[in-house]
Amino acid sequence: MASVTYDQATRVYPGATTPSVDALDLEIADGEFLVLVGPSGCGKSTSLRMLAGLEDVNSGAIRIGDRDVTHLPPKDRDIAMVFQNYALYPHMTVAENMGFALKIAGVNKAEIRSKVEEAAKILDLTDYLDRKPKALSGGQRQRVAMGRAIVREPQVFLMDEPLSNLDAKLRVSTRTQIAGLQRRLGITTVYVTHDQTEALTMGDRVAVLKGGLLQQVDTPRNMYDKP
Ligand code: ADP
Ligand code: ADP
Repeated sequence: MASVTYDQATRVYPGATTPSVDALDLEIADGEFLVLVGPSGCGKSTSLRMLAGLEDVNSGAIRIGDRDVTHLPPKDRDIAMVFQNYALYPHMTVAENMGFALKIAGVNKAEIRSKVEEAAKILDLTDYLDRKPKALSGGQRQRVAMGRAIVREPQVFLMDEPLSNLDAKLRVSTRTQIAGLQRRLGITTVYVTHDQTEALTMGDRVAVLKGGLLQQVDTPRNMYDKP
């Protein structure tokens, strides 16, 4: 686990006249669940992708713990990301999907198995380990995608609209599961959503972006008190 620091982090896309993320200053504490919220196009994904190393930082810096990761490739950042299109490998079982990154990394089978089983227990997927993704519900597939990230035991967990492909009812229950899971694991998490309710019910703190600028960072309670 580690803190995350955005230090005047700025992203200007090639050809753009204004920054998509403009001098973002934000400190996320070790173990915190921070939600980045705001309307479409406000710079949420760009902020997250800069932290993941999937988008260049044009000026400023990003740190994970006391490591400056601004120019490190994604694989060296000790992060795991769950996307909204959490494509699972259809020909692999749930267990194989969850263990795949570890297999690629050369981790031995026994260790992969124990990590996959542990993650499956946390995610309530134990009975589904030998099934193929198509035999699962949308919510279960979403949990497999999370399991794939968890088994790598990253220092920071990134989620970009992970619930947007789920129906409204499932979104509410999965929201609760993700928040509960994050608290149990205590892993520093940055979660992107355009949904205010999601932000206010899930986050330890909520950071509001507008037009690439950080408008407000506070706890949900304080946001309710001072609308
Ligand atoms: P959000 O995640 O809040 O919807 P984004 O970070 O995706 O916002 O986008 C922020 C701004 O940057 C938008 O104006 C968007 O059009 C622009 N943008 C995003 N990705 C690119 C890109 N690859 N090239 C050029 N502009 C982009
Ligand atoms: P391989 O493709 O090398 O034969 P496997 O088919 O055994 O590997 O599965 C890939 C990985 O997923 C393995 O490392 C294995 O430990 C893990 N795995 C497979 N089935 C299960 C299961 N039922 N429970 C937990 N882990 C499993």
